[in-house]
Amino acid sequence: MFSKVLIANRGEIAVRIIRACNDLHIKSVAIYSRIDKESMHVKMASESHEVSADPLKAYLDGDAIIEVALSCGAEAIHPGYGFLSENAEFARKVKEAGLVWIGPDSSVIAEMGDKKAARELMQKNGIPIVPGTDIINHCSIQEIKAMANKIGYPVILKASNGGGGRGIRVVRNDNEIEENLNACKREAMAFFKNDDVFMEKYIENPRHIEFQIIGDNYGNIIHLLDRDCSIQRRHQKLVEIAPSPTISLDLRRRMGAVAVAAAKAAKYTNAGTIEFLVDDLGRFYFMEMNTRIQVEHGITEEITGFDLIGRQIRSAAGEILDLNQSEVLHQGFAIEVRINAEDVANDFKPNPGKITAYYPALGPFVRIDSAVYKDYTIPPNYDSMIAKLIVRASSYDLAVNKLIRALEEFTIRGIKTTIPFLLNIAKDKDFRIGNYDTLYLESKMQELMPNETINKDDIAAAIAAAIAIKAGYE
Ligand code: ADP
Ligand code: ADP
Ligand code: MG
Repeated sequence: MFSKVLIANRGEIAVRIIRACNDLHIKSVAIYSRIDKESMHVKMASESHEVSADPLKAYLDGDAIIEVALSCGAEAIHPGYGFLSENAEFARKVKEAGLVWIGPDSSVIAEMGDKKAARELMQKNGIPIVPGTDIINHCSIQEIKAMANKIGYPVILKASNGGGGRGIRVVRNDNEIEENLNACKREAMAFFKNDDVFMEKYIENPRHIEFQIIGDNYGNIIHLLDRDCSIQRRHQKLVEIAPSPTISLDLRRRMGAVAVAAAKAAKYTNAGTIEFLVDDLGRFYFMEMNTRIQVEHGITEEITGFDLIGRQIRSAAGEILDLNQSEVLHQGFAIEVRINAEDVANDFKPNPGKITAYYPALGPFVRIDSAVYKDYTIPPNYDSMIAKLIVRASSYDLAVNKLIRALEEFTIRGIKTTIPFLLNIAKDKDFRIGNYDTLYLESKMQELMPNETINKDDIAAAIAAAIAIKAGYE
């Protein structure tokens, strides 16, 4: 086992990994940018090193991070999610420097990080994929339109190297193709430095169901059940449920077997996720594989009792996976909501700033993974997610009750957060009965907007109109 692990990340996931290190009696090394000096991961780690004054470079300069790891005697690097976690070149350099990468091999990251290559590999191995095309960059608009008509509208354009919901465009007819293709390519180039785009059939009313995979270095691979991540805004997850309340036991068993086969086809080691789309007839399709720990791993930990981060570290250190698929038991349901520092009424604009009061929800089966505290100032340079609230109960219905209770308890002052919006989701009648797909949020946005955050100008206009009617001016 390692004696020291460097964490190439920040925020709640860095804190989560430090906790896993402490549980395993491993020393943790935090890295940080200058503005992160007061951040929780810096305070909690066994030792902390500033990598750069630049807020982003500190977490993206792979060479500098490897330097720190070597000079402080760390034996392994945990990348968390985001930042360099899916950067195959960084993973390779870590290994070349004589350090252990806590994740799958760099060749697997490269292959699965390329959505097009991943689709091809899956198809070759008999895994169902969404019907789609090759990279279309070299095709003329006429040719692309012909392909779209052959697949059948609506179609979805995707950046092959995309992630985090970026570089995705839904196209409903010929007239929308050119503009969306250009926008998709531009976004892909800006975010992923590669504008390769391909086309897929848009699955109507789909549910996003993913399977957690865990493997060791010796070819043993199992899944730890599924998560329903259908509740999304702009292709980004906001609420996740494990296991999905919307699929049958039979479908779960079949999808789980396919997920393990997909991971085996990729020669996968360590933790990863196979994402599927499920249509309203219960047909399912491989969408992509994420070769890192996911934001929503906590709900899987809660229902299975399996410490995923701890297991990632142990697997990377060479431990054998001492568990068969049939031994994976699970209890009840867990729900996670992502609490973001955002102004919901103002198009979910990030709302960083100083936290003046912080009272996290507590009590049985309530877990909060966060990295903020009272008087902490959230910097504007990073993701707006500041906490993940996770609840568990014996049934989905009781888990929803607990979610409402915990969200009502959770108090954060000084900044605007998504808590009131999440509470409206928790109280929604369709959410209560598991009636959701990936269009749920979009179709209910107005209904779910918290009262106090409805645009003040709209209220003023409505009041003025009401007075005008009453006064007979209309
Ligand atoms: P998850 O499935 O783990 O929820 P998300 O897509 O929400 O994954 O991404 C988790 C984090 O990683 C977010 O902060 C997101 O912005 C970031 N992220 C995901 N994929 C990429 C990528 N390819 N490049 C840069 N950041 C990414
Ligand atoms: P990312 O790497 O950004 O997570 P994904 O390929 O996983 O990209 O897609 C993100 C989301 O976009 C999915 O969760 C789903 O809501 C939607 N999506 C992706 N592909 C399709 C499709 N073919 N049909 C319908 N929705 C899709
Ligand atoms: Mg995805």
